[in-house]
Amino acid sequence: TTARTARLRVWRGDSGAGELVDYEVEAHEGEVLLDVLHRLQATQCPDLAVRWNCKAGKCGSCSMEINGRPRLSCMTRMSTLPLDEAITVTPMRTFPVVRDLVCDVSYNYEKARQIPSFTPEAGTEPGDFRMMQQDVARSQEFRKCIECFLCQDVCHVIRDHEENKEAFAGPRFLMRVSELQLHPEDTADRRAISQDEFGLGYCNITKCCTEVCPEHIKITDNALIPLKERVADRRYDPLVWLGSKIGLR
Ligand code: SF4
Repeated sequence: TTARTARLRVWRGDSGAGELVDYEVEAHEGEVLLDVLHRLQATQCPDLAVRWNCKAGKCGSCSMEINGRPRLSCMTRMSTLPLDEAITVTPMRTFPVVRDLVCDVSYNYEKARQIPSFTPEAGTEPGDFRMMQQDVARSQEFRKCIECFLCQDVCHVIRDHEENKEAFAGPRFLMRVSELQLHPEDTADRRAISQDEFGLGYCNITKCCTEVCPEHIKITDNALIPLKERVADRRYDPLVWLGSKIGLR
């Protein structure tokens, strides 16, 4: 195989301080960036911190920013990166750095825990209800999520605004709220908490999350906009509001 020398500019540091450090590393034909980072570890800096697991785009571990774009390093072919300039590799910017390319993503797990779980009618047993195929398909699309958190990383609401993290769950978790709200057998009304606890109103549907999703989930069109429509129904339609008060829906 043909090899070339890749120039990498890798962020090295920890929660206190860090800097971009230049390296020259061999890159072989057909390799992805994660291969080259592993070679860097093996040949020059054994202490380079990189999180990874499956190397097949399914575990969601090797999220980082490559030339400023949130991406999975195992799915980024070297052949798609410009050869004539240094490739900048930095940790996800939205989350606190632990070391080098590894972030502390526990914010995401905290948000996940706050979402009230699936709530079917009391007494419903498995197999009791039938769902339309389109409802099944919707959940299936959302469940392709590998929790790489690239959508959370790119989202401008929290990317440079630490202060918004408390009030905003991010696209991945608003998608989970939407999945449950749109589920025909879920009895909980999640419209108020979408807005009040998970910050749906912060989202101005710029679709940055959809663009970076490695699973090509249409987060904005299929999860966030339908959730916004239902929240708007409840807020601004007086009949819907009255109906909800007297128990019609
Ligand atoms: Fe990653 Fe897509 Fe899931 Fe967001 S929705 S965490 S980008 S797989």
